[in-house]
Amino acid sequence: KPSTSLWDLDASQVKVTLTDAPKVIPPLESLKFGQVMTDHMIVATFHPQTGWSIPEIKPYGPICLDPASSCFHYSTSVFEGMKAYMGADGKTRLFRPELNMARIKRSVDRVALPAFNTGALITLIRRLVTIEERWIPKLSGYSLYIRPTVIGTRPGKLVFLTSLGVTASDQAMLYVICSPAGPYFRSGMRPTSLLAVGENVRAWPGGTGCYKLSLNYGSTMKPLKDAERQGYNQVLWLLGEQVTEAGAMNFFVVVKRDDDGWDVITPALDGTILPGVTRDSCLALMAAHPSRTILPQIPDGVCLHPQERTITMSDLVQWDTEGRLLEAFSVGTAAIVTAVGRIGYNGKDIRIPDYEGGPGPVAKALYERILEIQDGRVKWEGWSTI
Ligand code: PMP
Repeated sequence: KPSTSLWDLDASQVKVTLTDAPKVIPPLESLKFGQVMTDHMIVATFHPQTGWSIPEIKPYGPICLDPASSCFHYSTSVFEGMKAYMGADGKTRLFRPELNMARIKRSVDRVALPAFNTGALITLIRRLVTIEERWIPKLSGYSLYIRPTVIGTRPGKLVFLTSLGVTASDQAMLYVICSPAGPYFRSGMRPTSLLAVGENVRAWPGGTGCYKLSLNYGSTMKPLKDAERQGYNQVLWLLGEQVTEAGAMNFFVVVKRDDDGWDVITPALDGTILPGVTRDSCLALMAAHPSRTILPQIPDGVCLHPQERTITMSDLVQWDTEGRLLEAFSVGTAAIVTAVGRIGYNGKDIRIPDYEGGPGPVAKALYERILEIQDGRVKWEGWSTI
């Protein structure tokens, strides 16, 4: 029976075993996102009688699980995506990790996995990043992608409708793996294309779209494949007429106002949207500096008006027809900001103005500011910590 005296995750107890066979780091040119894993990983397990085990940092390798484990059958699995950046000053930084920790706490709670001290997890991640420092390329735009994961490992509860029914997993494993990452898009910042999809829905009111649960992603693979077959890079997820997210990134549009200002609109956090760290950072930067002060790419005299509100496909079509749709872009940890060049909808393409094959001024300004903060060239609100 769980008691209040269960062990919580304790970073001060960590047991570190370093590999005696360090991998050869592949050349930067062949670094593809998420393909090569570093030498070590963090692992801790939870048992209902004892609580969280002493965490370990140990050589990266396979894990052994009972085939009846909860995560394989009922998707009790959550994850995070964050990065460590190497500055020109040779120091390694994490970008707003407390937001990833708050999000993993909510995700873990949503699938009733055991909670843990997320402050301890940040400490463990900092230790792991220090150990893996040689894997972080010393070039702007490169980073170390960090993937904390929590899975339900309770075995043997496969019988439905009996006392052994589908229940919460009271056993769990927490692990963290890392992978060096180059600039997400090697072609530079070439705009991507989105296919607006309404027949397959990613998230709905009362659903789980606002949590980072594995179960939100498995079902997106087939619609993505279909979109790719039709010549689009990603799916623009709809809920009825309403735009929610673009692939696994948050979506923004820039719309010209009557007063020469620009509205920069992203869907509100209504439960169907993942609260992205990059989304929040973009909104905060624009709110703090609505004009050229920190975002020099914005034309003189233009004031940005960041807004969180509903965007419908009819809005996009109307803004396009009126010539007011200036930019569309997606934001997320992996690529920071990606310009969108066209959106397929009802057999036609909405074309976003071309900025010589690159992102428009708002996307470019946000990309450059966030990158500068991440690699420590600019200090901003304590977002990047060594
Ligand atoms: N939406 C979804 C569905 C995602 O998976 C992600 C990536 N975590 C994002 C948005 C962007 O979030 P973040 O900026 O925290 O990476």
